[in-house]
Amino acid sequence: MAGIAPEVRALMRPSAAALDPYDPAFSPVDVILSANENNYGIPPEVAPALAAAVTEAAWNRYPVPLGGELRSQIAAWHNVAPERVIIGNGGDELLFNFFLAFGGAGHALVSCPPTFSVYGLYASMVETPVIEVAREKDFAPNVDALVEAARTAMLVVVTSPNNPTGDLFPRDGVRRLCEACPGIVLVDEAYMEFADPGSSVEGLLPTYDNLAVLHTFSKAFALAGARVGYVLASAPVVAALAAVRQPYSVSVLDQAAALAAVTHRDAFLPAIEAIRMDRTRLSATLAGLASLGVRVWPSQANFICVRVPHARDAWRRLRDERSILVRDFSSTPGLEDCLRITVGKPEENDLVVGALTSILKGE
Ligand SMILES: *Cc1c(COP(=O)(O)O)cnc(C)c1O
Repeated sequence: MAGIAPEVRALMRPSAAALDPYDPAFSPVDVILSANENNYGIPPEVAPALAAAVTEAAWNRYPVPLGGELRSQIAAWHNVAPERVIIGNGGDELLFNFFLAFGGAGHALVSCPPTFSVYGLYASMVETPVIEVAREKDFAPNVDALVEAARTAMLVVVTSPNNPTGDLFPRDGVRRLCEACPGIVLVDEAYMEFADPGSSVEGLLPTYDNLAVLHTFSKAFALAGARVGYVLASAPVVAALAAVRQPYSVSVLDQAAALAAVTHRDAFLPAIEAIRMDRTRLSATLAGLASLGVRVWPSQANFICVRVPHARDAWRRLRDERSILVRDFSSTPGLEDCLRITVGKPEENDLVVGALTSILKGE
C-alpha cells in the first residue's frame, strides 16, 4: 500500500497524522496460525442454517441498528436484559466506541501491556492519554499498581485471557478495579470460550455498574470474516455506546450469520474442546524443546506465546520455507523473541512444531 504522502499528512488531524495504515502482517501461506481464527470453520451441521439465514435476510432493508433478534438471543444466552447488550462491527468497533464515548483529552486509559495493540491505537486516535502499568515477570499483572492508576482513569482495559500472553486476569483484581475506578472497567473476553469454565467475570455485572465485558464471534465462533462482537454492561453504559456508534454498522448479513451461530452455539463446542486439548498437547510438545532454547507460557486462549532464539528469523523461515504463518511479537517491548502460535487443527500444529524444531536445530 502507498504510504501517506507528506503533503497529505500535513492536512490530517494531529492525532491521525501520527498513524499509518494497519498492517495485519498477513501473507498467503498454506498454514495460517497467525490471527487466532478458528481453523475448523463453521461446523458442517450449522453451515446450511447459516447460509439460509443469510439468503433469506432482507438485503434491501437497513439493519435493525441494535440488532433486535440477535440482541435478544445474546441477552437470553447470557441471562441479562437486552438493554444490557450492544452489538458492534466486530469487537474492534465496540472498543473504538468505548474511546469515542469515554476517552479523549483528560480522560485517561489505564492498560496493562504487553497486550492487544488496538487499545493504544484507538486511544491515540481520539487523543486519549494512556497510563501503562507494565506486567511483571512471566506477564503477571501488577494489580496493586493498576488499582492505584485506576483511581484517576476514565477507562481501564484488561484482557482475559490476555492477547498475546494467554493468561487470565484475576477476578479479584477486576473487583478491585471496579471499586477504585470512577470510570469504566472493560474486561476484554474475546477468548473466554477457550478458558476453563467459570473464568468469565460476567457474574460481577450485577454488582458493578461500571463493569463492561467484551465478546466476539470472531474467535470461538469462527466468524472473523463476518465482523460481529458484543458488549455486556449496565443499561446506561450500553446507551452511551449506542449514542456514538454508526447506526448501521452491523449489516443484515452479519446479524443473520451471528444469530445462526448463537442459536446453534452448542455445535461449536466440539471444535472448542478439540482446540483446548490440542493446546495442552502443543504446549507440552513445545515445552519439550527447552534444550533448543524454547520457553512456553501457559495459555487459556486458542494460541500459545513462546520465546525462541532469534524469533524474527525463525518466523521468516517458517513463512518462506514452510509456508506456515505465525505472529511475530519480537519487536514489542516485553515480548523480545516471542512468537504467538494459534492452535489450529492437529495436523497444522504438528507441522508448525516439526518446522520450528528443524529450524531451531539449524537444519
Ligand atoms: C480478536 C480480538 C478482539 C476482537 O476482534 P473482532 O474480530 O474485531 O471481534 C478483541 N480483543 C482481543 C484481545 C482480540 O484478540
